[in-house]
Amino acid sequence: MTQSTLGNTTTNDAGSVHFPCPKCGKATVVRTRNEREIVSRYTCGSCGFMGPN
Ligand SMILES: [Zn+2]
Repeated sequence: MTQSTLGNTTTNDAGSVHFPCPKCGKATVVRTRNEREIVSRYTCGSCGFMGPN
């Protein structure tokens, strides 16, 4: 009953998030919905900070 009402479930930008590195704030981290779902790690390109959040 609660199937998708959008009819299109493969829009990449729909669930992506962008945020500044929580450590240095210099680099912008981009995570897609898929990366969050699988709890993929990210690494800041500026300071090397790693984390899931
Ligand atoms: Zn950083």
